[in-house]
Amino acid sequence: MLLTILVIATALSSDGSIIINMSEGETLSSPSRYARWCEKPKLVICSGSNLNIRDIVNAYHKLNQKLSEVVEDKCECSLTPGVIKFGVECFDTSNLYGVTYLNFNIETECLNGSLVQIKKNDHLVLTHEAGHSIGWMHSSRYGHLMFGDYNRAGWSMEGMK
Ligand SMILES: [Zn+2]
Repeated sequence: MLLTILVIATALSSDGSIIINMSEGETLSSPSRYARWCEKPKLVICSGSNLNIRDIVNAYHKLNQKLSEVVEDKCECSLTPGVIKFGVECFDTSNLYGVTYLNFNIETECLNGSLVQIKKNDHLVLTHEAGHSIGWMHSSRYGHLMFGDYNRAGWSMEGMK
C-alpha cells in the first residue's frame, strides 16, 4: 500500500459555492493549516464504528484541541455545523486507511464541520485524521504525524503548535 491516508477539504465562500478543493499531494515540510475551529467543536463518535472513545479523545488531547462535548451517536454522511463526526462510513476508501472531509469558511478560516472515516483502527491513523479534522494539512517530513503515507509517518509533531 502506498498512499494510505487522505484528506479532502472544501472551502465554502460566503455564498456557499465551493471554491477550493484540495486533496492529497499538496505537502509542505512543516504542515500548515487550512483552517481551525473558532469555537470548541462537539465530537460525535459514530455508534457502530467500533472505535474506542478514549483513544479518540486522547488523540485530540495530543493535538491540543479542546472539545465542547463528546457523545456517541448515529452519524449521517452530512456535515453538521460545529461537529466532528468520527467513525463515519461515507467514502469509497479502496486502499486508504483513513479519510477526512472537512469544510471551512474561506474568509474567516473557521471550520464548519468534519467527517472522519477510519478503515485501519490504529493510534497513528486516528491521530493523523484527527489532525486533518482540526485543519492540518500534510507535512513532507518522514516520521511526521501529518506525513500522508502511513508507512513513513510517525509521531513527530514539529511545527504543529
Ligand atoms: Zn492525511
